[in-house]
Amino acid sequence: MKTIMIVYGTRPEGIKIAPLVLALSRAHSLKPLVVSTRQHTDMLDQVNTFFGITPDVTLDVFRSNPSLNLLSARILDQLDPLLVEHAPDALLVQGDTTTVMAAGIAAFYRRIPLVHLEAGLRSGNIMSPYPEEANRKIVSQIAALHLAPTPEARDNLLGEHVRPENIAVTGNTVIDALHYTVSQDVPFTDPSVQKVVDSGRRILLVTSHRRESIGEPMQHTARALAQIADLFPEDVILFPIHKNPAVRDIFVPALDPKPNVVFTEPLDYPQFAHALDASHIVLTDSGGVQEEAPSLGKPVLVLRDNTERPEAITAGTVKLVGTDTERIVFEVTRLKNNPDTYRAMATAVNPYGDGHATERSIAAIEQLLGIGTRKPDFAPHVVPRVA
Ligand code: UDP
Repeated sequence: MKTIMIVYGTRPEGIKIAPLVLALSRAHSLKPLVVSTRQHTDMLDQVNTFFGITPDVTLDVFRSNPSLNLLSARILDQLDPLLVEHAPDALLVQGDTTTVMAAGIAAFYRRIPLVHLEAGLRSGNIMSPYPEEANRKIVSQIAALHLAPTPEARDNLLGEHVRPENIAVTGNTVIDALHYTVSQDVPFTDPSVQKVVDSGRRILLVTSHRRESIGEPMQHTARALAQIADLFPEDVILFPIHKNPAVRDIFVPALDPKPNVVFTEPLDYPQFAHALDASHIVLTDSGGVQEEAPSLGKPVLVLRDNTERPEAITAGTVKLVGTDTERIVFEVTRLKNNPDTYRAMATAVNPYGDGHATERSIAAIEQLLGIGTRKPDFAPHVVPRVA
């Protein structure tokens, strides 16, 4: 049996590799060896627990808040002996963190074929998101197999001279994970969240945490949310707020006195998926949420000036609104007051996946390793929403 080492460290990586690890654990041709860099601690543990995944190895690379350079050096240093000991037939990374870039280089230097899940995303600006745009471009130079979630991602890779035979369009495994998660019965542990969901009031779900927005841009967003809370007192703003104190220092003072703003600790992934399902409009700067919400028929306003996920903008289910106070208030008001605008965004097709990205990814990996054949590429126009 062949072995594939899977290296990951954050909650979004944990969500997106979970369906793959679970499917591989049941497969007979390919065994997963799961290595965590544990960039996220509690948030990642929650995801691992929900999906029943226990990493085989956990690296000790994040102690004492390392610089990106020290972190990269530690990952290279600690992963190398594992590559020698286990001699995996391939190494898989997901996305664009420093874990992905460093583990990718470690595999390449050991001549182990590198598989990149969620390959080909580009913002077009090397400084934003930072350092993720550079990380994913570096990995695209050295990967043997690029699992692109969408045709647009494949086109980005082709534009950088990646050979077409090394790209498979799979859809995003985040949708596979979401399909599974919303089908499960998940109670909310925070009674204030349960109360909001049970109240039947319309929920504006907000997440905001991106480093490049901290400071002025985030203050503008906070001001917009305060105005929205006043303009629509019958609705509730539900805000699972990131643990970063810099984020809390901006949003909490601006919104805490408002009776229709409910802050909660970051929800664990299954609860967040259910909150998303219960919401009316989503305001976010998260990448993963932009992909998930369309599957549940929720309009998304993106609190960023650019996105590496343009597909949903083209499909009409996501709108880039940036962090300008007036623009955010305007767009929310438009969705609230104009049912046709709302319906158009809520019923658009999800371009990110049909729930079968896992099997396409595994088939493409099996082909890379000479033990199987690929499945047809994911074609977004035939995707139904989750019921
Ligand atoms: N998420 C979560 N709890 C929250 C907010 C988000 O579980 O309180 C999930 C969400 O469903 C998505 C992922 O975390 O799958 C996105 O993570 P994040 O926004 O941290 O990172 P990004 O996607 O921007 O890299």
